[in-house]
Amino acid sequence: MARALYIHWPFCAKKCPYCDFNSHVRDGVDVAAWEAALIADLRAEAAVAGGMALTSIFFGGGTPSLMPPALVAALLTEAERLWGFVPEIEITLEANPSSVEAGNFAALASAGINRVSLGVQSLDDAELRFLGRLHGAKEALAALDTAQQHFKRVSFDLIYALPGHTPELWHDRLTRELSFGTGHL
Ligand code: SF4
Repeated sequence: MARALYIHWPFCAKKCPYCDFNSHVRDGVDVAAWEAALIADLRAEAAVAGGMALTSIFFGGGTPSLMPPALVAALLTEAERLWGFVPEIEITLEANPSSVEAGNFAALASAGINRVSLGVQSLDDAELRFLGRLHGAKEALAALDTAQQHFKRVSFDLIYALPGHTPELWHDRLTRELSFGTGHL
C-alpha cells in the first residue's frame, strides 16, 4: 500500500484574484516558528499513521518554492526519520515560475526535491496580467528550462477556457507546449 505525505506552505508573494486556496500574503514569515510547528505536526501524524515507508511527498500551497531550502531539508530529514522512504520516493514541490524562485531550484534539489510542478498558467503576457500573475511568459520559459536542468521530473499547469480561448487556439498552444519535453502537462 502507498503512503503519501502532504506538506502545506500557505504563503504567496501576491494573492491571485481567482485563487481560493489556503494562501496568504505576509510581510515576513517566522520560519523558525513554522519549522517547529510543521515538525510537531509530522510527529503527531506519524504517531497515528506511522510504520510504513513513504512513497511520495508533496509540498503544496501557497507557494512552497518560497520556502527556505534549509527548511525543506529539515522537514525531509524528519519525515525520513519518522517513516523511512522507499528507494524511488517522489518528492514534489509546487513552484511559481519567477526568476527569484528559479534561483532556488539548485538548493531545493540538493534538499531532496526530485520533481517540480510549475504554475505557468499561460505563456501569453496579456493573459498572465489578466490572471494577476507576477511572472511573464519569458520568465516562465526560463524557469521551465532551469527546472529541467535540476529536477528529474518537471510538470507545469495551464489554465484553459479564459476569455478568447477557442478549441483551435488551445490545440495550437498544447501542440507547442507538449513539445517542451516535460513529463506531465
Ligand atoms: S500563487 Fe497559487 S496559491 Fe498563491 S495566490 Fe496565486 S494561485 Fe493562489
